[in-house]
Amino acid sequence: MDFKDTPEEAKFRAEIREWLRKNAPKGKRPGGAWTGSLIGEDSLKFHKDWQKKLYEGGWAAVAWPKEYGGRGASLMEQVIFYEEMARACAPSVVNVIGIALVGPVLIGHGTEEQKQRFLKPILSGDMIWSQGFSEPNAGSDLASLSTRAVLEGDHFVVNGQKVWTSFGTIADWILLLVRTDPSAPKHRGISCLLVDLHSPGVTIRPLVQMTGDAEFSEVFFDNVRVPQQNLVGALNDGWSIAIATLMHERGGVAVAIQVQIEQVLSSLFDLARRTGKNGRSAMEDPRIRQELARCYAEVQIARWNGYRSLTKIVKDGMPGPEGSFGKVFWTELNQRMQELALNLSGVFGLVPSGDPLTVDSGRWVYGYLRSRGNTIEGGTSEIQRNIVAERVLGLPKG
Ligand SMILES: Cc1cc2nc3c(=O)[nH]c(=O)nc-3n(C[C@H](O)[C@H](O)[C@H](O)COP(=O)(O)OP(=O)(O)OC[C@H]3O[C@@H](n4cnc5c(N)ncnc54)[C@H](O)[C@@H]3O)c2cc1C
Repeated sequence: MDFKDTPEEAKFRAEIREWLRKNAPKGKRPGGAWTGSLIGEDSLKFHKDWQKKLYEGGWAAVAWPKEYGGRGASLMEQVIFYEEMARACAPSVVNVIGIALVGPVLIGHGTEEQKQRFLKPILSGDMIWSQGFSEPNAGSDLASLSTRAVLEGDHFVVNGQKVWTSFGTIADWILLLVRTDPSAPKHRGISCLLVDLHSPGVTIRPLVQMTGDAEFSEVFFDNVRVPQQNLVGALNDGWSIAIATLMHERGGVAVAIQVQIEQVLSSLFDLARRTGKNGRSAMEDPRIRQELARCYAEVQIARWNGYRSLTKIVKDGMPGPEGSFGKVFWTELNQRMQELALNLSGVFGLVPSGDPLTVDSGRWVYGYLRSRGNTIEGGTSEIQRNIVAERVLGLPKG
């Protein structure tokens, strides 16, 4: 891979840089928006408006094919896009799951009718999506899921419960894994449905996390009727859709996540410059400098690994199991950076947002608490290490 811009790439970089210069939000962001939280009306509106702007500028999903509203961006153009987003300190979109997971799955496995119906509102942020995989008794062992869908005429009737559904309180639709053939071996009797969360029989109960946000929910399905044309892929072939979704979550998303960890790093450096320690700036403290240097080096490693995941997507059309390595690395790195920031910001760093005594609008205490979930969501670090051991290194099953 050659990292120097060709004349075409330099033109692409200049175009996105100029667009971001004119359009990226500047100055103070509303309440929770600094923390990255999408919960709370002002923060939600801020992220929705930002996604709408990206959509209108044609930048909401650069990697998607042009016919579906993307730019059909090359590998290097995607890299450039994310580098420039990080450079401009641009916020994330509101429809994270729609753009990163549901869109690519529909582009790869959906019917033409599904693509025409769903892709545009996913891009514009008018239809927010969630991911209904985990259940109370099916997390790491996802194939044990028991939410049932029975085909009655031209509708599936769905009964069961999902849990940890991110964006459950703000989502309009859910990508749902259901059991359609209980007599088949557990990986074979699963199907994937697109379900309108406003349908009769759906109950959403928010779950409050230690950050104070109710970012995820329990979702109950009581005789919910789902049209047969909302089946993605073939009946009972939902496991392959689930694997494709999870690979997008671990591989493709890792590159977008790079924007966030680069921004955390730069804010961490900024915090160290502003913080006094033993009569001088924390930036001049040898022990802190060593920790910052380690974070800097590791963010660069995460970036090169993100590029490796992207290369795999471009070559094979799909992220590979190598994405699991990146996922373990960036999630644990983010936890270390958030912890260092919290240590630097002292007791006032623990004051949450909304209080006048808070440091940096409470972003560090929020970030520290939220980062604990990073090594669980999208598959725990233990599960990722198993995948790397067995499917990348070829080690025997433990
Ligand atoms: C912030 C956050 C957001 C989430 N968002 C969503 C979402 O939008 N949609 C969704 O469907 N789910 C979501 N999840 C759920 C997430 O995918 C599951 O929590 C995760 O897969 C683990 O499942 P579990 O909680 O049932 O834990 P379990 O599977 O019960 O695991 C418990 C512990 O055992 C370990 N363990 C289990 N099996 C093995 C093994 N074979 N080898 C070694 N160790 C093992 C695990 O690593 C873990 O430490 C989210 C979770 C979090 C924290």
